[in-house]
Amino acid sequence: MIEILKADITTLKVDAIVNAANNSLLGGGGVDGAVHRAAGPELLEFNRKLGGCATGQAKLSPGFRLAAKWIIHTVGPIWHGGGEGEAELLEKCYRNSFLLALSQDIKSIAFPAISTGIYGYPRGSAATIALVVMRQYELQFNRIVACCFNAEDLDIYYRELDKLRQ
Ligand code: ADP
Repeated sequence: MIEILKADITTLKVDAIVNAANNSLLGGGGVDGAVHRAAGPELLEFNRKLGGCATGQAKLSPGFRLAAKWIIHTVGPIWHGGGEGEAELLEKCYRNSFLLALSQDIKSIAFPAISTGIYGYPRGSAATIALVVMRQYELQFNRIVACCFNAEDLDIYYRELDKLRQ
């Protein structure tokens, strides 16, 4: 089941939260900064051993001080106008996060709106990609949360999900 929520993703009690990280996996702004602050310094120490992450790929860490047991770090594309494979890369972020979750027996998972903050991906088309992939994995999870951080995103996600269900 897909649930659209307005929340700080670091507070969610799910098996795994997804972090919109950067290629270093060593922390940054936006949701990444919030995840590192909430998980504690052990996360940075752990991630140093992961050797970074390519755009579109996903890597796993423990949740440390989070309620979530796991953090799936994925790196979204930076928006350059849409002609540089951004849509395919964003889709890969969602798909590879789900595949990693399935390999760990993760049954509930929450995603932020990957790439739509500092990386500048248009919110509407990013939400469509997110929800299309979420629907493909819906039956394999107990709970899939699309975690919006503001009211505007919440509206966009509800609207896009309605469109997909028509
Ligand atoms: P990116 O670099 O991939 O664009 P950002 O963190 O800048 O990542 O933004 C991705 C999305 O995460 C944005 O929609 C932003 O509003 C949202 N966001 C920021 N902080 C949080 C948080 N604590 N919980 C959930 N979503 C968040």
